Amino acid sequence: MTDTRPDGVPTRIRHHIAGAPVDSVSGATFEVIDPVTNRPYASAAAGGPDDIDNAVAAARTAFTEGPWPEMPARERARVLYRIADAVQERGADLAHLESFDTGLPITQARGQAARAAENFRFFGDLIVGMNEDAYRVPGTQLNYVVRKPVGVAGLITPWNTPFMLESWKLAPALAAGCTIVLKPAEFTPLSASLWPGILADAGVPDGVFNLVNGIGEEAGAALVAHRDVPLISFTGETTTGRTIMRDAAPHLKGLSMELGGKSPVIVFADADLDACLDSALFGVFSLNGERCTAGSRILVERSVYEEFAQRYAERARNVAVGPPQDPATEVGALVHPDHYERVLDYVETGKREGRLLAGGGRPEHLSEGNYLAPTVFADVPRDARIFQEEIFGPVVALTPFDTEEEAIELANDVDYGLAGYVWTSDLRRGHRVGQSIEAGMVWLNSHNIRDLRTPFGGVKNSGVGHEGGTRSIDFYTNEHIVHVAT
Ligand code: NAD
Repeated sequence: MTDTRPDGVPTRIRHHIAGAPVDSVSGATFEVIDPVTNRPYASAAAGGPDDIDNAVAAARTAFTEGPWPEMPARERARVLYRIADAVQERGADLAHLESFDTGLPITQARGQAARAAENFRFFGDLIVGMNEDAYRVPGTQLNYVVRKPVGVAGLITPWNTPFMLESWKLAPALAAGCTIVLKPAEFTPLSASLWPGILADAGVPDGVFNLVNGIGEEAGAALVAHRDVPLISFTGETTTGRTIMRDAAPHLKGLSMELGGKSPVIVFADADLDACLDSALFGVFSLNGERCTAGSRILVERSVYEEFAQRYAERARNVAVGPPQDPATEVGALVHPDHYERVLDYVETGKREGRLLAGGGRPEHLSEGNYLAPTVFADVPRDARIFQEEIFGPVVALTPFDTEEEAIELANDVDYGLAGYVWTSDLRRGHRVGQSIEAGMVWLNSHNIRDLRTPFGGVKNSGVGHEGGTRSIDFYTNEHIVHVAT
């Protein structure tokens, strides 16, 4: 098998604490594998409570001694803009590393760097423009609000689009003046190892940003349990979210939870089917289907159901599955053999629960690596596991409906509530159905285009709280009210 390792991939991945690379206090490491060969390519420091203690102590010192939290917003923003420029300049390298580590198609990994850079620009702009409110009570009082960074922010991130999702938390936390301990996902620690260099070069003082690698139940759990970390921003699985909420409860921490999804795409017979097909394919097969907002349940009005299903399956069979680094690839390798096995289990379950129209296993031309042909099941009933549970791979369930009411009922009949998509030419119906879907975010005749000012988050089992725009700054700051007699 050819070595797909890009230039610059380290063989050793370390923590970064108080401005310096360090190994674990215990000396423990774990192996990091790439998803094409499934062979170890690096050994990463496996953090535990001692490493978290050291990282939190560094972050706490940087917070209490400054200068970061007290810096004028304009100065912090300048640093954020430099980070954005550096991320953008290194975009091509970064995309190669991300594609190598996660199995994402290289063309899709490229967009991630641009998006990460934009997050820093956006939150740099936003913090400069933030108001601190004042309330006048005539003849009695003037009340004014001082926004203060909360303190050491614990950031825990998943393995799907890791660098971009890290930036989505790092940028507002830094903009707000917090100091940070980041615990990236253990499947994909590679791109996170770029942050220390990028941030230091941009002028982030030592100790403001700290990175501890490691297993979730060890390094992540120690971060959640640490008494000097007043808030945790978490993106990951719903079950992990529950554990974190439980472990954070003794300290009553601030929590932001962006969790799993099982998002519906509702297709009415009057929809622009060509545009809808394009979107519904992209919605579940881009990013290897490892996308929290994937439209993984497609509900189609019965009069166009069979036509839609056949056209969709035909398109799915033509999606190019191949090596992540090949620019022609549209679906790459799933992130890790454990995850691959889990997704394959769902595919076998789906063969009992629905009618297999496309895919269903490893593509014939790829004998090794975590590859799965885009898989389409039709006639999937609402009680099927592949209708109810998040698969997080290139697998989709199609289900017919007869009435608008039934479509809404099916859409809402799951525990998740992250995103939803509605396709119809009847705009009144589009608004009506869109507003009836139990989800944090709905797209009408469109998909995942997001403006950074808008709220991002889910309801039900898909999350607690929202990120995006001022909501992110609200999370990383406390509003301190001073009441003055007049
Ligand atoms: P995961 O929950 O397994 O892991 C996420 C992070 O939590 C990792 O860093 C992991 O090490 C850490 N972790 C695990 N156990 C922990 C514990 N007990 N205490 C503290 N930290 C712990 O999730 P994943 O498999 O990496 O990511 C995929 C999931 O993330 C999917 O469910 C997906 O839908 C979700 N996701 C949601 C969004 C969103 O915005 N809603 C975005 C991306 C991904």
